[in-house]
Amino acid sequence: MLSATLVKQEAQALGFSAAGLAPAEAVEPWRQAQWQAWLGDRRQGEMDYLERNLEKRLNPTLLVDGAKTIVSVALGYFPAVSLSPEGYTMARYAYGQDYHDVVRHRLEELMQRLGLEPHKDGRAFCDTAPIDERYWAWRCGLGWMGRHTQLIIPPQHGRKECGGGTYFFLGELVLKHRADHYDQPIDSHCGTCQRCLEACPTDALSDRGLDARKCLSYLTIEHRGPLDESLATHVTPCIYGCDRCAEACPWNKFAKPTTVTEFSPSKALMAMTKADWHSLSVEQYQHLFKGSAVKRAKFEGLKRNIEAAKNHSS
Ligand code: SF4
Ligand code: SF4
Repeated sequence: MLSATLVKQEAQALGFSAAGLAPAEAVEPWRQAQWQAWLGDRRQGEMDYLERNLEKRLNPTLLVDGAKTIVSVALGYFPAVSLSPEGYTMARYAYGQDYHDVVRHRLEELMQRLGLEPHKDGRAFCDTAPIDERYWAWRCGLGWMGRHTQLIIPPQHGRKECGGGTYFFLGELVLKHRADHYDQPIDSHCGTCQRCLEACPTDALSDRGLDARKCLSYLTIEHRGPLDESLATHVTPCIYGCDRCAEACPWNKFAKPTTVTEFSPSKALMAMTKADWHSLSVEQYQHLFKGSAVKRAKFEGLKRNIEAAKNHSS
């Protein structure tokens, strides 16, 4: 039997901003219906991997045989510094080292501290398997899914020094042991607010959720090939991802700078000017983004985004 208190204490000692536990079971019917409607409308764009293993995504006991407990954790990445105003911006999550590695290593250390063995007692994931991460973070009581579809952690639910808001990476342990206590989900506190919908330059958000095909975050990272001209005009000044809906969210006034040094931008990235971006070579790209999640967009994708930003800068 897992001690929920011990799990949270050890997660906190490892720097996680928030942690919670829920029984491993199929996601609730309303969430299954949401996924099916979203995929049915093709709002996932070219992210075909979201359709694969849908059964596992909707039920983590099919992903990890014998799963009894989900532990959801959040690790803050809100940076203490911004990229140079002389250059272009990037989504804040992409400033530092690849979060997949940073979060997964800490999760594996959490298992060790709890006396658990990877695979024998469960598995650690961070955006690396078909798991409905935001749903489980909500189900484990970390926060709620805002109208911008991101998880919002209210400041009183995380460690005091980690603040609140949306600038958190999520990760999970799917464990084969029951816990002595499980957390309850939090109701949405979005109320009548619509700021994220109003801030979105491409109308990618609506009451039906996100249409990835119009979302600059999807288009500048996942999408391959040219950008539709009507959407390309909105890329500048952010050449990788888009934080506009997060910036508009009033809960991010509770954001506090991360103490995770791996998420800080390098001096070289901080110093990039627009002219540097315009002349970026493959070698510079490889040096600048060694060990970074930005590699996902590939050199060609980043160059395409820079070109779009350059062509539409005022
Ligand atoms: S990331 Fe940008 S484009 Fe996507 S929904 Fe948010 S504001 Fe809109
Ligand atoms: S901007 Fe407003 S509506 Fe959107 S997620 Fe934040 S609180 Fe909710």
